[in-house]
Amino acid sequence: MATTNTENGDQGRHQEVGHKSLLQSDALYQYILETSVYPREPECMKELRDITAKHPWNIMTTSADEGQFLNMLLKLINAKNTMEIGVYTGYSLLATALAIPDDGKILAMDINRENYELGLPVIQKAGVAHKIDFREGPALPLLDQMLQDEKNHGSFDFIFVDADKDNYLNYHKRLLDLVKVGGLIGYDNTLWNGSVVAPPDAPLRKYVRYYRDFVLELNKALAADPRIEICQLPVGDGITLCRRVK
Ligand code: SAM
Ligand code: CA
Repeated sequence: MATTNTENGDQGRHQEVGHKSLLQSDALYQYILETSVYPREPECMKELRDITAKHPWNIMTTSADEGQFLNMLLKLINAKNTMEIGVYTGYSLLATALAIPDDGKILAMDINRENYELGLPVIQKAGVAHKIDFREGPALPLLDQMLQDEKNHGSFDFIFVDADKDNYLNYHKRLLDLVKVGGLIGYDNTLWNGSVVAPPDAPLRKYVRYYRDFVLELNKALAADPRIEICQLPVGDGITLCRRVK
């Protein structure tokens, strides 16, 4: 029988790589992974997940269930022209690259090229590297540069934002012009380790505490934004899907 985190005392499980879930029962999350996710995970995704697990910052990676979700979502909306802000070793990037058509594109941005290059051989072996245009550097100036060219406006089917949480609202201002009407922006980690409902005196890790206020502000702003429809899902660390309606 599935027990809750507090009942079985296995709080630590949520800290493990791949155990990125806000489900109260680790057994239930494990069930999802073992029944529906791992058996259907493409070999290249597994290989990238294994490489990433050995990296010291592996806590940053997208979980396998969220990768499966993104892959399905992109196919459902027939995404072709996409963007990703925050690549790390490329797990969500590979999930995207596998989902879009052969002539699809991903404009991928990260301040760190080294981590992208760690996963790149796997992406190349999977035969999807030609879809990726990787840009090293902070995303904000690049977005500003893109906005200067009218042809980029309303040109993206899907944008995945998984980088510096203190900039999400700055991204949002710009991305709303770049995504097409009817297109989707996905903001990741919008439940921020569950800390969005933590009491003020809760013992939070320093970086969790620092970014929490930005995530709270983002969630409020998205809920009040009439230019989008939203859906916040408890997948991974929480993802808020925003569909541009005007
Ligand atoms: N989506 C990735 C995956 O599936 O593994 C995880 C991304 S990780 C949570 C966040 C990434 O954002 C890091 O690789 C970091 O270097 C990058 N980042 C941080 N600040 C950034 C910025 N201003 N512009 C672009 N990337 C940034
Ligand atoms: Ca994330």
